Amino acid sequence: MARDTLELGSVKVRILDDGIFITDAGNVFGKGKKAKIRGAMHAVLVETGDALVLIDAGFGPELPEALEGRYEIQRQSTLMDGLKEAGHSVEEVTHVILSHLDPDHVGWALNPPDFPNATVYAQRAALDEAREMPEEDGRRLAVSAVERGVREGWCELLDGDGEIAPGVRVEVRSGHSEGHQIVWIGEGEDLALFTADLAPAKIWLNPDLIAGVDTDPEAARKNRIEVLTEAEERNAPVILYHEPKDFLVQVRSSDEKGFEAVPLED
Ligand SMILES: [Zn+2]
Repeated sequence: MARDTLELGSVKVRILDDGIFITDAGNVFGKGKKAKIRGAMHAVLVETGDALVLIDAGFGPELPEALEGRYEIQRQSTLMDGLKEAGHSVEEVTHVILSHLDPDHVGWALNPPDFPNATVYAQRAALDEAREMPEEDGRRLAVSAVERGVREGWCELLDGDGEIAPGVRVEVRSGHSEGHQIVWIGEGEDLALFTADLAPAKIWLNPDLIAGVDTDPEAARKNRIEVLTEAEERNAPVILYHEPKDFLVQVRSSDEKGFEAVPLED
């Protein structure tokens, strides 16, 4: 079992698991790629002061109808089981941060509000972009739920960087989507980084690997280099949302690949 907890000063981090999705590589890398790829969904639970923060929210109870045939989900347990195992109920969650609006990141948060006492945070720029996506795009599916959340008061739109709870700071790093946000977690020098889909798995630590689904590949590349450089300088563990096994790593710059993952130091 891979390590799935971190203590960063008084901030406690637990990495949850919402199963594995399988899809054609073409859905990730762009048209014409025939291989299948597997991705995990490692949402992050942060206990900090009186707040219980969930960062990203998996695929939700079931695959959205619009993605049937394109994605398959395999699960032994869900994010909700992990929350319970961590000793928490859905009522205790106070904040849910959505890195962006792709369906594999928002599932348990918008369908309907599964966390009755939480505020869900998304960037306004991410919503604006999702509104402009083609009908069949996964990102577009979140628009009506986010708009409803804003009307009903359980969703808050952010306009840039900010602290969501003590020791939980979002930073906009676009490229994969507009208004894509990463999260720095921790206290003082004791930080970890949630990269979301800016660098969601070990292969994506290479800045030159560009996803067909990145809306702005050049921004993705530049932001990936800047953010991973900062993580290395700060010696901050990096949480890789879509990496099935080694989802908690340190990053080191490497001549051939840009960056590589090394096991976490104790
Ligand atoms: Zn994703």
